[in-house]
Amino acid sequence: MPTSLEPLEELTLQAYGCEACKLCQTRTTVVFGDGNPNADIIFIGEAPGEQEDESGIPFVGRSGQLLSKMLDVCLGLTRDDVYIANIVKCRPPENRDPEGDEIVACLGYLKKQIQIIQPRVLVTLGRFATQALLETEERIGKLRGKEFVYEGIPLVPSWHPSYLLRRPMSRNDTVKDMKIVQEILAKPLT
Ligand code: URA
Repeated sequence: MPTSLEPLEELTLQAYGCEACKLCQTRTTVVFGDGNPNADIIFIGEAPGEQEDESGIPFVGRSGQLLSKMLDVCLGLTRDDVYIANIVKCRPPENRDPEGDEIVACLGYLKKQIQIIQPRVLVTLGRFATQALLETEERIGKLRGKEFVYEGIPLVPSWHPSYLLRRPMSRNDTVKDMKIVQEILAKPLT
């Protein structure tokens, strides 16, 4: 069933006024999410960087370029075919790691995004998104390459694109992870 845009828009507006954690004091813009609200796949990253904070759009910097390439090469998709969001919607100063209280304060938005969009698969990019949704402290290196379930939705953890920029050799793992995604999407809808 097609998803109405309205609940997502309502949630976006709510997030724009959010003061639930200290990142509201330093952000330029809330980076809520981008892409197809009826997407089969949601990609979930960590937190906005400088360019995202300025533009209000997730994954527009170097990591974003690599994510677009991954989508094209591994899945034959563009970023308009999928939905892209982050676990934390506001930029941590100097691109530091998001802190536990910031993740807790922000997680409700992502959970509602998932509820509204109801994708067929979630891809968590990096340890912060993966650990938060799976409620684990296990390392991303142990979690990726496998399929998990979040609220009845298959969840595939993978490396964060910024890690892949530093470790190009690990891109082979991403190719394997995207094969898991393709297998999930190839299953008939029940
Ligand atoms: N890294 C992320 O995790 N998200 C972005 O939006 C940009 C870089």
